[in-house]
Amino acid sequence: MDLIIDKIKNLEEKINCIKNPNDDYNAILFDVLGIIQEIVSDVSTLNKNYDEINDYVTVLDENLGNIEEELFGFEVEESEFEDFEYLDISCEVCGEQIAIEKSLLNEGSSLECPNCHNKIKF
Ligand SMILES: [Zn+2]
Repeated sequence: MDLIIDKIKNLEEKINCIKNPNDDYNAILFDVLGIIQEIVSDVSTLNKNYDEINDYVTVLDENLGNIEEELFGFEVEESEFEDFEYLDISCEVCGEQIAIEKSLLNEGSSLECPNCHNKIKF
């Protein structure tokens, strides 16, 4: 990212140099074309880097899927995971929604509402 910031500063300096009223139009045009060429080259480099990062993330995601499959016996979909492990409980006093892990839901246990501190029994 520092490289990009340096590039932008460099381009800004070049643009400021063009604003010299003593230069003739051909010289200005030549400088402007040079700057445009540089921008085009930078954008194509950025695009290439983006493609590489995108490919890398795709591979990481596939690997993570494989690890999940090894650990849980199936590839975990995030929404399924929540339905599987958590239950939404609402406070009868203030209506606050609290996600609680199913294994903590024992008969006669209670939970303090983080919003109004009401003890919720279940
Ligand atoms: Zn509450």
